[in-house]
Amino acid sequence: MTTERATPGSVRALDRITAEARACTRCAATLPLGPRPVFQLGAGARLLITSQAPGTRAHATATPFDDASGDRLRGWLGLTRAQCYDPAGVAIVPVGLCYPGRLPRGGDAPPSPGCAALWHPRLLPLLTGLRLTLLVGGHAQDFVLGKGRMAERVRDYAAFLPRHFPLPHPSWRTTGWERRNPWFAAELLPALRHAVAAALDRGQGARGGA
Ligand code: SF4
Repeated sequence: MTTERATPGSVRALDRITAEARACTRCAATLPLGPRPVFQLGAGARLLITSQAPGTRAHATATPFDDASGDRLRGWLGLTRAQCYDPAGVAIVPVGLCYPGRLPRGGDAPPSPGCAALWHPRLLPLLTGLRLTLLVGGHAQDFVLGKGRMAERVRDYAAFLPRHFPLPHPSWRTTGWERRNPWFAAELLPALRHAVAAALDRGQGARGGA
């Protein structure tokens, strides 16, 4: 885990690579709404949220997690919208930067192949103050940790601390899973809020919801 201060040189490098990523059109032929990389970062970010890929609303507003899933995630983390969207503290970089479309039988398509391998190694090493990375959903976990079972990793979250915190994707489908797994709210969420507050140097009086 790195916790160094950003230097003027690393800030310039991050600005340059961020501009390159925002201009990326590599998957133009396969993206149903066209290329529009949606992510957030700042050189001093201490918390990284690595997720799946933007949805249609995030694509439309160019704001990651700008939907009900984002509200659910912010509730889990104990962050307000203002806190979540402060790039000085929070980076949000999915494994697919552009909206990938829908599967024929419903549900979001997987992140565009090769996107994370292209951009994460260029962007993330420049976030030298990162303390904690949230791995939101199976795609993010598989990319960072290698293939595995999402539910087992979430249940075993403490084994991945202090560097990573595996989480389910906060879609509406997760609400039933939460009800069937009461340890998630009773045990994991307090630990998650503590880890997030510590990463952001915030007290434990953090407000939930968004
Ligand atoms: S999904 Fe990633 S690699 Fe593909 S166009 Fe968007 S930013 Fe580029």
